[in-house]
Amino acid sequence: MTGTIFDIQRFSVHDGPGIRTTVFMKGCPLRCVWCHNPEGLSSEIQLSFSERKCLNCGLCGKRENISDAEKCPAEALCVCGREIDEDELFDEIKKDGMFYGPDGGVTFSGGECLLQADFVSSVIKKAKAHGFSSAIDTSGCVPWQSIEKTLEYCDVYLYDVKCADPIIHRQFTGVDNRLILENLKMLSRTGKRIWIRTPVIPGFNDTLEEITAVAEIVSSLHSVEQVTLMPYHSYGSDKYAALGMQYKYNASAKVPDEKIKTFKNIFKKRNITVI
Ligand code: SF4
Repeated sequence: MTGTIFDIQRFSVHDGPGIRTTVFMKGCPLRCVWCHNPEGLSSEIQLSFSERKCLNCGLCGKRENISDAEKCPAEALCVCGREIDEDELFDEIKKDGMFYGPDGGVTFSGGECLLQADFVSSVIKKAKAHGFSSAIDTSGCVPWQSIEKTLEYCDVYLYDVKCADPIIHRQFTGVDNRLILENLKMLSRTGKRIWIRTPVIPGFNDTLEEITAVAEIVSSLHSVEQVTLMPYHSYGSDKYAALGMQYKYNASAKVPDEKIKTFKNIFKKRNITVI
């Protein structure tokens, strides 16, 4: 079986327990205005072009085909994404095996990796058989059946709860959060380890009301081990132009440290571990 990925990051320490190899899968059902991985949005293999790196040598012709990227001497024209066979990917994962220790392993991220649930399930099955831990970083915006396919092999789910209000959620991500929250409840009932991740985005969810509502959702669940608040950053904004896309969020927006501290206290008061 093959899957479509756009990156493999080695020695990740923010994508689950321990040291991990993170595999970024292509395709996402959400369109979060602040997204810092725009290359994960489309499930198609794309060309990215950096005007800054371009030598204007003309070797790439019209820059229309994937094969044009091979002609570029300056890495200005690149292919974003590739199909990979499950065995080939697992061979890549195994190369890092000696660094995982008792907690580390592989994390599937994206995009939304569960849009390719059969592929992910197949690779984490191999990981489990090999004694590696597996984590899945998901928006939860997929049919429950897609999550279910991974339950037997996944050790920990990194689950995004972006905001509680369905209207605001739709406004900023393109979808409402009903399915996401229903899936989260179901996942919690299975007893699987869950790490909640909440981006803190100015103008979207950076209010006491919204963060309190997220904390209330977390309080109602059974198997959440921790919550990570992730303050907005604009690191991925440059990638949009290279992909012929427009970054629609305000890249200069900042979340003051004081505000994050206040938001963390909302979780601490409910005895929720927050990072
Ligand atoms: S081959 Fe690369 S460096 Fe030359 S014109 Fe095309 S994109 Fe620019």
